[in-house]
Amino acid sequence: QADIAMYCAKEKGRDNAQFFTPEMASVVTKKFGFESEINEALSLGHFFLVYQPKVFMEKARVLGMEALIRWNHPTKGLISPVEFIPIAEESSLIIKIDEWVIDQTLKQQNIWRDQGLTILPVAVNLSGRHLVSDSLVAYISEKLEHYGIEGRLLEIEITEGILLQDIQRCIEVMAELKALDIKISVDDFGTGYSSLSYLKRLPLDTLKIDQSFVEECDSHIEDTKICETIIHLARNLELTIVAEGVETASQAEMLRSLGCEIFQGYFFHKPMKSHELATLLAKDSVEA
Ligand code: C2E
Ligand code: MG
Ligand code: MG
Ligand code: MG
Repeated sequence: QADIAMYCAKEKGRDNAQFFTPEMASVVTKKFGFESEINEALSLGHFFLVYQPKVFMEKARVLGMEALIRWNHPTKGLISPVEFIPIAEESSLIIKIDEWVIDQTLKQQNIWRDQGLTILPVAVNLSGRHLVSDSLVAYISEKLEHYGIEGRLLEIEITEGILLQDIQRCIEVMAELKALDIKISVDDFGTGYSSLSYLKRLPLDTLKIDQSFVEECDSHIEDTKICETIIHLARNLELTIVAEGVETASQAEMLRSLGCEIFQGYFFHKPMKSHELATLLAKDSVEA
């Protein structure tokens, strides 16, 4: 119980221990129960990936895709990453998940290549904790080699949080990723504690405009202006800009008029299973 109280105190972001309450017990049981279920799901193969295309609007052409994890739970059904990634991020479990995603993505590209399809870059989401860990770059380069996939076919999406927490380490790791020809995107741009200083210090390739700005970019002037500003910032810094969560023609038109040409969202494609993506690649892809 002392351990649990300590854990809860830590959860609350304090250094001091607290008295243990029944309410804490249920929170902790739920969390630790979930952790062991995540471990089990990894070993039993209950996770799978879906892929959401990114499109270049001008030519309605698929440029690449983002891999998104799903949990097919035997009794609870499909569980969204929004529910389990934050829990996994509190421990080293997230590293196991992220490694599984990298392995799975490269394995899938190898399969697509064997099927004679043109393979396109796939972006994976990495937790900040994993980015700054010692093991990431070695893991990636070993897997690239194992599956015979070039680094340019892998991209990494990272949210702003870690870039601010540990910039020095990010600079080191990103330099190693660049040496492997891997592209780096800032995900959900504008929603974290945006600091413009990291933009000049890190070897970034892409900013992804968060869907919360896209949602009303065609109906609220503040959102329109925020999108416009992010697009101009990206252009001035020679970064690629991608809008995510584009659901309507009107949002896409607005973003295009502001200078954004690459889109990801339900209006174009929903995330899809690997075989559906293969069909799309067969008819729609071009050399990356
Ligand atoms: P994200 O990386 O920003 O991914 C975009 C999310 O927006 C995805 O939700 C995607 O399905 C959703 N989305 C795409 N287009 C639209 C649209 O037009 N409208 C709406 N309403 N939503 C759209 P998803 O797959 O539930 O993932 C949520 C978050 O979970 C991701 O946000 C990412 O932060 C995290 N995540 C997902 N897969 C992984 C993973 O493999 N590893 C890690 N570490 N995190 C992951
Ligand atoms: Mg992402
Ligand atoms: Mg995002
Ligand atoms: Mg997000």
